[in-house]
Amino acid sequence: MIQVFGPCAAESREQVLETAQAIKESCGVLPFLYRAGVWKPRSRPDTYQGAGEEGLAWLAEVKRTLDIPVATEVATPEHVEAALKAGIDYLWIGARTSASPIAVSAIGVAIEDWRLKIGDLKGILIKNPVNADAKLWIGNIERMEKTGIPVIAVHRGCNHQPCWKMAHEVRLARPDIPMLLDPSHMSGDATKVPELLKKVEELGLDGAMVEVHAHPESALSDNAQQITPTLLRDALDPILSRLCLVSLICPPNGPEELNWLRAEIDELDEQLWDTIAARMDVSRRIGEWKKAHDMAPLQPERVKVIGERLKVKGKKLNLPAEFMKQIWDIIHEESLRRQE
Ligand code: PEP
Ligand code: MN
Repeated sequence: MIQVFGPCAAESREQVLETAQAIKESCGVLPFLYRAGVWKPRSRPDTYQGAGEEGLAWLAEVKRTLDIPVATEVATPEHVEAALKAGIDYLWIGARTSASPIAVSAIGVAIEDWRLKIGDLKGILIKNPVNADAKLWIGNIERMEKTGIPVIAVHRGCNHQPCWKMAHEVRLARPDIPMLLDPSHMSGDATKVPELLKKVEELGLDGAMVEVHAHPESALSDNAQQITPTLLRDALDPILSRLCLVSLICPPNGPEELNWLRAEIDELDEQLWDTIAARMDVSRRIGEWKKAHDMAPLQPERVKVIGERLKVKGKKLNLPAEFMKQIWDIIHEESLRRQE
């Protein structure tokens, strides 16, 4: 089992050391890698971009003084060189970089090159791409395997959705590659992290990567999703015995397989309800327009067109026409109620 805890970004020497010390106290005997990004791939250019190379020295100090292996994100060959020269033990490739096979290959070449000169890199963590592309994630795992360094997959979801189907596909294709759960980026919400962490056990995953900050409220990036070291300890409590005892790789056909399928179906149900709620909202806006233009809520012509469309769609999806009609009637009835 591999646990990776630490802040989203290395912000200052004090913040990096204080957070590492607090996590160490919270974790007790549970071993973990300490993470902090020094080059932050932010959406907007006017937000915190990371401390840059200076932050590597703070991580090296954690490694030296607290005896904890350290990890940081690399997005270019230059980052690889700087991180390995600073003695960083594990590198991770972020979701945005993971979306570009050319960037991932260039990082792989740099790792191969630098590991010959500085041979103490212990592992490469590869996050899923920002889009739900299982094939590209598998391809990136293969790109990293060429370096000869142990590879670990990190499932961080897409657009704050779990995207279990993608992770399930990768798990089945590469059961030999450890997979960690990143509940922080998966949800973007600190309050959802403890519940999501339970999936590590349910799905037979190999550990977690969690964003932990001594003072999340004042974090310079991802402040809504970082948890305190105390909250981390509470969240780990129910799964701690499993984290310590389980073997490194879980076979994909145990009870976990059913849990993977249930995770997929729960996510689909969630999307179904979100879609229905979004549909009701558009319906309400249509109702307002009709009212303003003296039009009745029920328009038989329109109902006929939609009915025809449903038949075609039903054939394509192999769903019985009557089943689709029943569901659509219920939805339409609620839509009309909102327009009246
Ligand atoms: C991170 O781990 O801080 C990060 C930027 O993650 P991701 O690439 O998953 O967004
Ligand atoms: Mn982050």
